[in-house]
Amino acid sequence: MSSECLFCRIVAGAIPAKVVHETDTVLAFQDVNPQAPTHVLVIPKEHYPDAATMANADPALAGEVLATAGEAAKISGVDASGYRLVFNTGADATQTVFHVHCHVIGGRAMTWPPG
Ligand code: AMP
Ligand code: ZN
Repeated sequence: MSSECLFCRIVAGAIPAKVVHETDTVLAFQDVNPQAPTHVLVIPKEHYPDAATMANADPALAGEVLATAGEAAKISGVDASGYRLVFNTGADATQTVFHVHCHVIGGRAMTWPPG
């Protein structure tokens, strides 16, 4: 846990979040600035800066993040209508929080390619 990291602080309970689902290793919570009717972030409780680093260090944890993203979609009621999973990584992808998080976005029709 890093006191410098926003999402580590959410895991520690130092910053409040609207929790959607939680396991021993993973937390899903509402994005504070939603880009669609459903916008949930799924994070591992352990700190990794991005998805590839997490997947290389702990493949099982990466799988839990993906399974929890599916669970969050189900809880949010968008599993049938569809949803998008996004791991922004690095500057060109506009990553702003360097604790890996999977965006679960749904509840409206989306366009492709993304902006
Ligand atoms: P990214 O650009 O992929 O790094 O996304 C970071 C996301 O974290 C953005 O969608 C923000 O709206 C979201 N965010 C920032 N601070 C908080 C917070 N305190 N609680 C929930 N979501 C947050
Ligand atoms: Zn962190």
